[in-house]
Amino acid sequence: MNHFDYRDGVLHAEDVPLPVIADAVGTPVYVYSTATFRRHAQVFREALAGAGRVHLAYAIKANPNLAVLRVLAEEGYGADVVSAGEMMRALAGGIAAKDIVFSGVGKTRDELTRALDAGIGQFNLELEEEGEVLAALAHARGQTAPAVLRVNPDVDAGTHAKISTGRKENKFGVPIDQAPAMFDRLSKHAGLNLRGVAIHIGSQLSDLAPLEAAYARVGELVADLRAAGHTISHVDLGGGLGVPYRPDDVLPSPADYGAMVARATRGWDVELMFEPGRVIAGNAGVLLTKVVWVKPGVVNPYVIVDAAMNDLMRPAMYDAYHDFVAVRPSGARMTANIAGPVCETGDTFAMGRDIDVVASDDLGVFRTAGAYGATMASMYNSRALVPEVLVDGDRFAVVADRIQPETIMAAERVPEWLTR
Ligand SMILES: *Cc1c(COP(=O)(O)O)cnc(C)c1O
Repeated sequence: MNHFDYRDGVLHAEDVPLPVIADAVGTPVYVYSTATFRRHAQVFREALAGAGRVHLAYAIKANPNLAVLRVLAEEGYGADVVSAGEMMRALAGGIAAKDIVFSGVGKTRDELTRALDAGIGQFNLELEEEGEVLAALAHARGQTAPAVLRVNPDVDAGTHAKISTGRKENKFGVPIDQAPAMFDRLSKHAGLNLRGVAIHIGSQLSDLAPLEAAYARVGELVADLRAAGHTISHVDLGGGLGVPYRPDDVLPSPADYGAMVARATRGWDVELMFEPGRVIAGNAGVLLTKVVWVKPGVVNPYVIVDAAMNDLMRPAMYDAYHDFVAVRPSGARMTANIAGPVCETGDTFAMGRDIDVVASDDLGVFRTAGAYGATMASMYNSRALVPEVLVDGDRFAVVADRIQPETIMAAERVPEWLTR
């Protein structure tokens, strides 16, 4: 459920008509709904009420805007971060260091040191050497780093190959069959409190079966580790729950997921940790855009909008579907292609799609753009970096400016030998 609805024929974000935002801020612009973020955060939490002790760490890579982080901090969420930059954001967004989990396959020594400085809550180790280095860094500073070992359960998540992370050939985690021996060796290091295991098998999962299979393997691993004498107090089950992108998509609900988790983890007696990203942020945002031209095509007309692949990369990168609707639909329909202005054929949002009839200067939105949208934006083709707006009831604020190419040019230098 989200709070982007039509009132008197005009699409609103909560109580704000989207044309008001377009007039005030211009287009393209991301528009987020505070009420939707809060609702998703609460629904996900309630879904896990039957799963015992739970720590919720919002995967901030889905949408790391500081205002969004503030909302989720107010909802009691910690953060899952994958870089020192994200750690800085989580802290600046009001999330306590102890509630931050640091994931990622390429944490540098500098990043590990900064995270030790900050006193974050948990390191999710991706390889044995990382654990050795972290242990040495922590020990030298008189610290003990809380850590879990991320395992790769070799499960096919059944999602797009580019967002699948739990197959044995993927770069993430350590092979689950090697985990017990590695755990033995790493747990001997002073400087490390190796207290559990983690998994994350992929994103936009539309079926709970691969997750349940992965959790079952983790359950066996936990039993094996305990039998070997290890204390296992934390298991991080990752993120990955999908969201509906198409009007007729049917996905497992957070409640279905919660019931599965309760079933799969019965008797584990650990603190369960979760790293939801998309399921919190996806439907909490839209990308508001204006039609530049409707260009006649050989097969279908091209609706050329002022948003492009550099603002919303998912269609070009993952062949992702984003629903497109007019802000003031007339009721009439047309079959069209939707594309942006960037000089790439990949800058196409839809081909042969049945959409509301739109004409030049009409407003439209790409729905379900709150996750992996603005955060992946670039300035390719020297376009301005897309701004972000947060709505709360009948008020709204620009929470990220439109960064102009001039700002980037000001950071570029022409060497002196070229200026003579
Ligand atoms: C990306 C990521 C997540 C969040 O995934 P979603 O599909 O957005 O829920 C969680 N954990 C890790 C380690 C990730 O890399």
